[in-house]
Amino acid sequence: MKKFFRKFCPECGSDNIKWDIPQMWSIWKCYDCGYTGPLVIEDGEIAEAIRKNYLKKQEEK
Ligand SMILES: [Zn+2]
Repeated sequence: MKKFFRKFCPECGSDNIKWDIPQMWSIWKCYDCGYTGPLVIEDGEIAEAIRKNYLKKQEEK
């Protein structure tokens, strides 16, 4: 089975991220934190680290 590359939000590490506008393929939107932009993370380990950091920050608020 071919490995599917997942994309993650650079702000919160969520994989709940989709193209915001299909015509503008470089703009992504995160449905967890509301991030929009061209940058996405494709490395699951980095995403996990961002996710942990993000959740920690949320707890501190
Ligand atoms: Zn996010």
